[in-house]
Amino acid sequence: MAAARKKNLRTEDASPSAPQALAERLERHGVRPSAQRVAIASYVLGTEDHPSADQVWARVKERFPMVSRATVYNTLRHFTEKGLLRELVLAEGRQVFDPVMEPHHHFVDDTTGAIRDIPWNALKVAKIDELEGLDVREYMVVVRGVARGARKG
Ligand SMILES: [Zn+2]
Repeated sequence: MAAARKKNLRTEDASPSAPQALAERLERHGVRPSAQRVAIASYVLGTEDHPSADQVWARVKERFPMVSRATVYNTLRHFTEKGLLRELVLAEGRQVFDPVMEPHHHFVDDTTGAIRDIPWNALKVAKIDELEGLDVREYMVVVRGVARGARKG
């Protein structure tokens, strides 16, 4: 409940400086901040939802009905290439986008499909360095199950 409320505040925060700050952030990553890109960034770079491209499109369309699906897909790819987003495949055929670039793990709820971040230090993976013949670049644990007590209060 508290988490859901926080999330709403995040995405509906319409403070006037936000688009300007976003535009500057895009520029720092070498992305030209067109109005459509800023609109897409305002949702996808602030969300904790791990949305698919189509979910991003649906959200952005609520406020910017003229934004096309192709624009959203191309922009997400561009953001990913420029290091603003990570593309994750957490289930077969399910690609989602994550603005949290620091290493972290994920929990996927079996019943709702919701994806939640797990802090890096909350889990300990042993013996990664001992895997024979593998130079590991990165890894991530995907935990699946049912969230208990998620609706406290
Ligand atoms: Zn994440």
